[in-house]
Amino acid sequence: MEYDIIIGMEIHAELKTKSKMFCRCDNNARGADPNTKTCPICLGHPGTLPYPNQQAIEWTVLLGLGLHCHINEFSKFDRKNYFYPDLPKGYQISQFEIPFCSGGWLDIDGEKIAITRIHLEEDTGKSTHPAGKNYSLIDLNRAGTPLIELVTEPVIRTAEMAKKFCQRYQQILRYLDISNADMEQGEMRCEANISLQEKGKWLYEDGLIKPVGDYKLNPKVELKNINSFRAVEKAVLYEVERQKKALASGEELRQETRGWNEESGKTVHQRFKETSADYRYFPEPDIPPLKFSGQMILEIKAKLIELPSEKKIRFIDEYGFDAITAEILVSDKALADYAEHVVSELESWIVSCGDTWERQKNKLAKLASNYLISELFKHLKANNQTIRDIKISAENFAELMTLVYQDKINSSAAQTILGVMYAKGSDPTDVMYELGLEQMDDTAVLEAVVNSVLAANPDQVAQYKAGKTNVAQFLVGRVMAETKGKANPKKVQEIIGKILKS
Ligand code: ZN
Ligand code: MN
Repeated sequence: MEYDIIIGMEIHAELKTKSKMFCRCDNNARGADPNTKTCPICLGHPGTLPYPNQQAIEWTVLLGLGLHCHINEFSKFDRKNYFYPDLPKGYQISQFEIPFCSGGWLDIDGEKIAITRIHLEEDTGKSTHPAGKNYSLIDLNRAGTPLIELVTEPVIRTAEMAKKFCQRYQQILRYLDISNADMEQGEMRCEANISLQEKGKWLYEDGLIKPVGDYKLNPKVELKNINSFRAVEKAVLYEVERQKKALASGEELRQETRGWNEESGKTVHQRFKETSADYRYFPEPDIPPLKFSGQMILEIKAKLIELPSEKKIRFIDEYGFDAITAEILVSDKALADYAEHVVSELESWIVSCGDTWERQKNKLAKLASNYLISELFKHLKANNQTIRDIKISAENFAELMTLVYQDKINSSAAQTILGVMYAKGSDPTDVMYELGLEQMDDTAVLEAVVNSVLAANPDQVAQYKAGKTNVAQFLVGRVMAETKGKANPKKVQEIIGKILKS
């Protein structure tokens, strides 16, 4: 039997507001002792009143605008009732039928992944279960942290796309500077709903999967405990295979929640899924409904910045970067800003040389991406640093590119200079002169060195003349050694060819 894979994502992310969602408690509890960032409101004491965090609401709207959502001008909070030890009130304040944002989409390389909704709620506390002990511990510092939940339509068809969606969403949260979205810290938590449907037996209509004719849909499985992007892909792939086998053996699937176990590489049953009716949602009586004016939405929209998918397209069109380079550069806003600064320096430089960016952009963009990504990344990695730690100004970085571009230095000298620049933030031209790395480019000087090398290596010259032309590489190597690596290797090769062919 052939199946269509149907995946929908639910992603929770903690907002990095100063205070919590409904009280004045410090929202940054990193490193704090358990239960020290709490108050009667987030502890759910009877008689306390929640007071919504305006910043959290504005950020949710900002995110919704960035993802092309409809912003509901009239909205409200609801109570989602359930019992769990990490939920002292016995309910979570969330949003049910009228979230702040409805519809919308996130673009991944031209494929628009439809979004159902984005709503705002509060996080729960955190339980830990010490190994070998007969008790559990509860930390309520996290209780009441603003939490945005994004739900997609069931339109994702592969595990790889599910992973890419989560990665792009994390980038967007970081671009907007509204969440750290660190998955290892639990600041972003991805859940995948997966079902297999017999190929071609369903329709996707009005945001819902509908069976064709009397065909019955297979139940979906919700996957939790996914702590990394790699795990998103692995868990989905595992679950697809598990469901395929189950269906092939005639097992009846049930709607359930399963947890991903990183060590075993398997999903394990946790519970049969509640339906929304089990939560007995009702409007939060302590918070009046919210109404946005068109003006407020416009003011929030004015704060929207260019997001990674659009930036990627622009980097390709405007600067001539290839798609892979552009994807890497836009993955981190600080890196994208740095690259853009370098490129704009190169652009003014090439114009000052009497040329145009349009004519030279492919060569210059390739050069810049090679040094920004391959060479610079080596140093960042070796020093366990990010682009935010870099001492090299974009002007100096661009200047290094111009030295290579003009053949003033060769690539091995450029790497040496970059190493010094990385350590000290120095000017590349100064380093070039200090270390005597300027490239030997003078034809007459190089011809003299080539002639002496040829005279000293008669056997190789004879081999070359007998048709074994790849010995030219050996001769170039000799010239490079003779000039202490300073000769322009391209030019040396040309000169050798010219002399030996004559
Ligand atoms: Zn509090
Ligand atoms: Mn939720």
